[in-house]
Amino acid sequence: MTSMAKHNYRYNPATLSFEPIEVPVLKKFANVTIQFVISLVVALIVFLSYSYYFDTPKEKILKRENAEIALKFELLGKMLNESDLMLEEIQIRDNHTYRAIFDADTISSSLRTGGMGGASKYDDLRNFNNADLLIDIATKLDQVTWKTYIQSKSFDEVIDLARDKEKMIHSIPAIQPVAVDNKIRITSYFGHRSDPFLRTKRFHQGMDFAGPKGVPVYATGNGRVISAAYSYFGYGNVVLVDHGFGYKTRYAHLSAIGVKKGDTITRGQIVGRLGNSGRSTGPHLHYEVIYRNKTVDPINYFNDMKPEEYEMMVRNANPLE
Ligand SMILES: [Zn+2]
Repeated sequence: MTSMAKHNYRYNPATLSFEPIEVPVLKKFANVTIQFVISLVVALIVFLSYSYYFDTPKEKILKRENAEIALKFELLGKMLNESDLMLEEIQIRDNHTYRAIFDADTISSSLRTGGMGGASKYDDLRNFNNADLLIDIATKLDQVTWKTYIQSKSFDEVIDLARDKEKMIHSIPAIQPVAVDNKIRITSYFGHRSDPFLRTKRFHQGMDFAGPKGVPVYATGNGRVISAAYSYFGYGNVVLVDHGFGYKTRYAHLSAIGVKKGDTITRGQIVGRLGNSGRSTGPHLHYEVIYRNKTVDPINYFNDMKPEEYEMMVRNANPLE
């Protein structure tokens, strides 16, 4: 084509002028047709490109963003549903396990789901395109937030109860007041027995541990000494400890008192020495456990403890011994 275009005219020396080269009609027609087709193809490409990118840049991006946002909201809704289900499982465990352990009342489902506010709360969202979706998510979010709040309050309460339980475990009398070894023997149990002085049947309010004078007598739980003095009612040198939670313990006939009124003491701490003071026929410890101002059988308040565990506990409570 290019060579043809160059030779569209020819110089005629005879006429001294440029003369157009005669192109055959058929060839001429073919040229025009090719050019027309090319123009048509170009126009088509331009048209298609234009219509394809017609939305760009703004509309196209906005449409895509809108679709993405809608998808994200849907995912958010699903995540909120899952969170809600998880919370419900935690609530069940809380009511029937954690709170049950500590004898705490269960939290009613109306309190757990209540406090949501009216429907008018979401009026602001009504003007948006995806109003239903937005309101649904806002409602779910409020519910999950409220449930989480109530749940965290409940856990705070359970933690307090657990902390008290821990204190209770350390306070309630739970060991023998004298070392578990062969120098000590139990000479009298709690209950009815004949009194060696009055020679009558009487109720024995505690347990007697006979042993060598001077062996240490240990506090059987954490507490506070409420009296530590000589008693003229037969107990001799006697220590009374308040453990809280309704419990007290009494250690009588001591040869020496190792604590004073008001002392805070720990389980295994020495409160005095085994002795024969007061109304006693031989060196022994008279030990009482008192629950809500009534003596109870101390044998129910001895944990099974191996001698080495006992020794370890006593050593920890009395580092200088
Ligand atoms: Zn006794």
